[in-house]
Amino acid sequence: MEASITVSSKLPRTGTTIFTVMSRLAAEYNAINLSQGFPDFRVNEELISLVNRYMQMGMNQYAPMIGEPVLRKAIAAKAERQHGITLDSDTEITVTAGATEAIFNSIAALVHEGDEIIILEPAYDCYEPAIRLQKGIVKRVPLRLPEFKVDWDQVRDLITRNTRMIIINTPHNPTGTVLSSEDLDSLYSLIADTDIIVLSDEVYEHIIFDELSHASVLAHEGLRSRSIATYSFGKTFHATGWKVGYVIAPPAITEEIRKLHQYVTFSVHAPTQFALAEYLKDENNYLELPEFYQSKRDLFLDLMKDSAFEPVKSSGTYFQLFSYKDISELPDMEMAELLTKKHGVAAIPVSVFYQNEEAHQEQLLRFCFAKTDPTLEKAAEILCKTFPSA
Ligand code: PMP
Ligand code: GLN
Repeated sequence: MEASITVSSKLPRTGTTIFTVMSRLAAEYNAINLSQGFPDFRVNEELISLVNRYMQMGMNQYAPMIGEPVLRKAIAAKAERQHGITLDSDTEITVTAGATEAIFNSIAALVHEGDEIIILEPAYDCYEPAIRLQKGIVKRVPLRLPEFKVDWDQVRDLITRNTRMIIINTPHNPTGTVLSSEDLDSLYSLIADTDIIVLSDEVYEHIIFDELSHASVLAHEGLRSRSIATYSFGKTFHATGWKVGYVIAPPAITEEIRKLHQYVTFSVHAPTQFALAEYLKDENNYLELPEFYQSKRDLFLDLMKDSAFEPVKSSGTYFQLFSYKDISELPDMEMAELLTKKHGVAAIPVSVFYQNEEAHQEQLLRFCFAKTDPTLEKAAEILCKTFPSA
């Protein structure tokens, strides 16, 4: 008989991420997958050719641990154009395996046992397990319907001597709300006299609508010297499967993040880094994103007009929340399963972004509109037919 071993889980309450669960279910039931956030259209052909070219040229061995110099320089040049700041690409920029690695390493490198981390809930799902793994304590500020705005007084009330980090995310997944520069001023005024670090998840920086502009911690004079900002080429260049991103932080913080990065991944796919460096030179490659995705958001909203789903305003990201309170009283996980299995459209139940059940806003589903127009048309047709407006 096999000897049985006891595994003591470090994350006993953590299951499989909802994105894996829903994408698997969508595939199993052959449903249109508007759940996990990824485009169903092709990466730009020029970018694909560039990766291919650098592979053919033999750039296939380890990249430098902190990232290819050409890519780090291209990122610094982009930040300068965007925010008018000068970054030292050797000491402030690190190329990572997607924003996920950047976020994990930032938390793991800086959070000590007993440190308190403030997050805004609903929150993207990778923050909390990383904090718990370090024996950090999560403090949650709820964002509430209809606007999911941050109440900075509530943030102030949670700050103690043990607060180590505040995590923000703008544009925000899953709600699609964005922070303004006034929000960043409010945040700064709360922490200016403290050692609190801001981790700003800005993966959707270029997916922002209605002429709004992205409020980055990098552009905020006070916050920049105490902030970590994370980015994802997967989001910006429609290539989520490449898992290439980066983290920008002041040198002392970068040094700590790199101590982990060197043992977590060491370095990131080399030919892609050369290709991205070249592709970044043409800023139109990302400046066209607001218009591109706003037209998808507007198309999807228009197509859904005749359904009983009620939209919540999305100002950024490629996600659109809909309330189904006029359709069903089912909990959102059950509703998401029903939609996928019975009607053939998969979405994400918003409750998974909450740990605090009381704060959880009921009957909301998140739909990803980073899809071709025919995909959106097909999904909306099903939803309008099945759940027509009264
Ligand atoms: N943060 C947010 C808010 C996200 O939605 C995602 C998902 N892409 C990530 C971080 C992770 O990005 P990446 O795929 O580059 O790891
Ligand atoms: N960020 C994507 C989303 O919110 C999913 C990424 C993942 O599957 N880990 O849907």
